[in-house]
Amino acid sequence: MAASNASCIFCKIIKGEIPSFKLIETDLSYSFLDIGPLAKGHSLVIPKYHGEKLHDIPDDYLKDSLIVAKKIAVAVGCENYNILQNNGKIAHQVVPHVHFHMIPKPAESDDAG
Ligand code: 5GP
Ligand code: ZN
Repeated sequence: MAASNASCIFCKIIKGEIPSFKLIETDLSYSFLDIGPLAKGHSLVIPKYHGEKLHDIPDDYLKDSLIVAKKIAVAVGCENYNILQNNGKIAHQVVPHVHFHMIPKPAESDDAG
């Protein structure tokens, strides 16, 4: 990884030091299921570059991570979803390694099972 932080939980997930349910991995990004899903299939896409906020991350990593989010949407056939990315504590960022939430929004008929 180009820039890694030994105490960062998401850097540890990228290195396999903390287990995760991996979805898609590329040279520049890693995606996995969120441990506290807001909806079924809630995943996170992270650049393989440690930086706290969007403006800390090189463009090629950001581009790759969004392409991975797009691939997840296509793979799961998800027509309705939110991509969310928090920057800073006041904006509800908890983990200080940039991550894109990919949150499916099932149709109400899907919720009923
Ligand atoms: P934030 O509020 O920083 O935007 O979101 C952090 C997200 O990371 C939360 O949705 C939380 O559930 C998720 N998360 C935190 N620690 C872990 C972990 O160790 N494994 C996984 N898979 N997700 C995590
Ligand atoms: Zn990190």
